[in-house]
Amino acid sequence: MSEEQRGFLKRSADETYARLQRRPLPRAHTVNGDISVSFEFFPPQTEASKTILWNSIERLSPLSPEFVSITYGAGGSTRHRTHDTVKRIIEETSLVPAAHLTCVDATRKDVNGIADDYWRSGVRHIVALRGDSPDGGSFRPHPNGYENAAALVAGLAQRHSFDISVAAYPEVHPDAVSAAADLDNLKRKIDAGAKRAITQFFFDADTYLRFRDRVSAAGIQVPIVPGILPVTNFTTLKKFAARCGTSVPAWVGVLFEGLDDAPDIRQLVSATITAELCTRLVDHGVSNFHFYTLNRCELTLAICRILGIRPDRAVDLRADSPKAAVK
Ligand SMILES: Cc1cc2nc3c(=O)[nH]c(=O)nc-3n(C[C@H](O)[C@H](O)[C@H](O)COP(=O)(O)OP(=O)(O)OC[C@H]3O[C@@H](n4cnc5c(N)ncnc54)[C@H](O)[C@@H]3O)c2cc1C
Repeated sequence: MSEEQRGFLKRSADETYARLQRRPLPRAHTVNGDISVSFEFFPPQTEASKTILWNSIERLSPLSPEFVSITYGAGGSTRHRTHDTVKRIIEETSLVPAAHLTCVDATRKDVNGIADDYWRSGVRHIVALRGDSPDGGSFRPHPNGYENAAALVAGLAQRHSFDISVAAYPEVHPDAVSAAADLDNLKRKIDAGAKRAITQFFFDADTYLRFRDRVSAAGIQVPIVPGILPVTNFTTLKKFAARCGTSVPAWVGVLFEGLDDAPDIRQLVSATITAELCTRLVDHGVSNFHFYTLNRCELTLAICRILGIRPDRAVDLRADSPKAAVK
């Protein structure tokens, strides 16, 4: 090789090296802040779904979530199952459970009784919600019940010193007469004693960031924790989003188009867009995330890993492991 050719190759190698140095690292590589997470589950109905839930709880618990919350079915339909799941979390894990509680079809006395029972069982965190009418119609408070979530928060705070979370809606709740009225309602819930708000899910980081700005301008100072839904089934998601007023951007539809029978590919697409959403939020100072796990752990585990969260103990993460072997 001539001197000239050697010089050319050396300059070319130097240029490649300099270009690679300038290239930003993948964002996931640089997220290593103090991120804290919480996980939401729903109470299982069958033995098979119970196994799935407890496998998920076991595999997610080494990520040291701040709390894990258990939903309450429409109209109190899961009252006993929610209670049993919360109790089992207390008895068998070191996790902090948060029990969801709604006002639907129940007197104040009933709801207070459930809250007292939770307190006696050692539950200290309640996610206080109005809930929806089980028939899908507009919400009608029980004549002797709590009329909305703000009233429920006030009632709970008066009875016990619960840590109370409430719901917030970056895209405005469908029943709200205006965005301003919805914000006033959130403020009432906080003024009544709630310590944080967890948002309805959303797909666009800007939706959350603009909402956070409006919340802050309204003088609300509690954490507004983004609720993150890693999509598993796009068809179900569209129906659910329509009911709760969440817009699904066209690009999400394009990404999932034709994947109805390809769950593995859907899972990969979902992990990618959810991780991008979360890292974008981290770039804007978000450090708390609430994951709607739908009782499955894989997507949440993957996204938490990208957020720099590591298990606090050895966990068997093999896909074929019948049960996560928590040592
Ligand atoms: C994080 C999270 C968890 C959830 N978990 C559950 C669950 O476990 N079980 C379940 O059934 N549902 C659950 N939901 C859904 C929730 O119950 C519904 O969104 C319900 O429609 C509203 O509940 P809320 O607590 O936000 O109601 P509220 O805060 O009471 O408000 C609902 C709407 O009514 C309006 N409003 C309330 N009071 C007044 C008033 N005095 N004057 C005028 N307007 C008023 C508000 O502006 C708002 O638009 C959850 C939602 C979220 C975001």
